Amino acid sequence: MRFQAPRGTFDILPNEEDTWNQVQHACFETARLFGYRYIETPIFEESGLFERTVGEDTDIVEKEMYSFEDKGGENISLRPENTAGVCRAFIENGLHNTTLPSRLFYYGPMFRYERPQSGRYRQFHQFGIECIGDESPDVDYEVIKIAWDILNTLNFSNVILNINSLGDSQDRFLYTEELKKYFSKYLNDLPKVDQLRFERSPLRILDSKEEVTIKISEEAPKTLDFISSESLIHHENLIQNLEQLSSIDEKFQYKINNRLVRGLDYYNKTVFEYTSDSSGPQGVLLGGGRYDPLIKILGGQDTPAVGFAMGIERAVNELKKNIDIEKNYVDAVLIVTDEDLRIQSTQIANSLRSHQIKTIIAPRKSIKAQMRFANNINSKSAVFIGKSELEDNKLSIKLLQKKSEQIDIAMDDLNQLNKILNS
Ligand code: AMP
Repeated sequence: MRFQAPRGTFDILPNEEDTWNQVQHACFETARLFGYRYIETPIFEESGLFERTVGEDTDIVEKEMYSFEDKGGENISLRPENTAGVCRAFIENGLHNTTLPSRLFYYGPMFRYERPQSGRYRQFHQFGIECIGDESPDVDYEVIKIAWDILNTLNFSNVILNINSLGDSQDRFLYTEELKKYFSKYLNDLPKVDQLRFERSPLRILDSKEEVTIKISEEAPKTLDFISSESLIHHENLIQNLEQLSSIDEKFQYKINNRLVRGLDYYNKTVFEYTSDSSGPQGVLLGGGRYDPLIKILGGQDTPAVGFAMGIERAVNELKKNIDIEKNYVDAVLIVTDEDLRIQSTQIANSLRSHQIKTIIAPRKSIKAQMRFANNINSKSAVFIGKSELEDNKLSIKLLQKKSEQIDIAMDDLNQLNKILNS
C-alpha cells in the first residue's frame, strides 16, 4: 500500500528550503525593524475560541475547521488562523500589564478544510502581525507599511493595497440594515449561497465570489457613507498617510474598495488586503484590519488592536517562478582515493566542518563514481584524500564551479579554503 500526503497538503522538499527561508527571513527581519517580537501559540485550541471570535456563521467555523473531541472529551480545533490564539495568549499571560502597545508577530501552519486549488491548501502557513493596545490610525498605517516593506523585499511587482472602513459596531448595524434593503430587491436573482448569506450575515454577500452577486453588488450602498464621524476621521487620517507614502514611493498604489468587508466577524474600522495581478485566490497575498472588540469578547480588558496575516505559500510560489537550477548546498565532497584512508577521511571531514565548510564524504565506490557523485550534487569542490596528500599535510582540491581549477591548501589553512569556496 502506498500512502500519499492528505489532499490539500504538500511536502516542502530540500531544494525549496532556501525560498521558504527567504520569505520567512524577509517577514521576521521587517517585523523586527518595526520593534515587533515573536510569539508562538499552540497549533490547536479549544473550538469555542474560534466560534466566539472568527464567528459561528463564517465559512471557516461552519465548514472548514478540523475539529475533534480529544480523549479527555474536550472539543478541540486545529487553528484556522492565529489572531484568536494570540489574543487568548495576550489575555492569559497578562500582557496588558506590560507597556502597550504589544507589538507581536507569529509564523506557523494553519488548517482549513477548503476545496484545494492553486494557492489554496488545507494546511498552509501564515506570517502575521498583531499590534495590540493602540487605537490610533498611526498603527493601522504601521502594519500596512510593514506588509508593504515585506512585499518589496520579496520583489513583488504590481501589488495593490485595497482598503475600506467598516466603522464601529453601531455603524455596522445601520449599514447592514441598508444592505438588506438593497439586496432584498434582488433576492431571487442571487445564487443559493448568497441567499443564505442574506439570512444569516448580509455583509458577507459583498465577499461573494459569484459573478451575478458581484454585478448586483456594484450599486450596493457603501460602508463609508454610513460610518460615524469618529470612524471617518480615523479613516481619513490613515488615507493621508497612504497618500504621503504614494508621493514618496511611486510603486505604492492603493484603492478604496467599497466591497471589501473581509470574511471574519471581528473586524471594525480599517480593513485591507494586498493583491497581486495573479488571478483567483492566489491573487490575495495578505489581509488584515482593526479588531478593537476582540480582546473584550474574549474576557480581557477593552483593548484596541490591528494586524494582518500573510499567506506564505503564495509568496513562495511567486518566488519559485524565478528558480531554475538547484543551488549548490555542499562546499566539498571528499574523494577518497585509497580505501585504507577512510578513518582519516572522516577526521578531515570533521575539520572542514569545524571551519564551516559543508562537507560530504563520497560513497565507497570507484574514484570515477565518487567524482560523478560530486558533480551530480553540484558540489563546489572535490577534495582528494590520498597517501601523498596526507604525507604532505595538504589537501588537493578541484574547484568544480570554476572550470575545475586545481589548488593545494595546507591542512592548517582551512580558513583560506572557506574563503575561496564562498567567495
Ligand atoms: P485570511 O486569514 O483568510 O484573511 O487569509 C490571509 C491570507 O492567508 C490570505 O491572503 C492568503 O494569502 C492566505 N490563505 C488563506 N487561506 C489559505 C489557504 N487555504 N491556502 C493558502 N493560503 C491561504
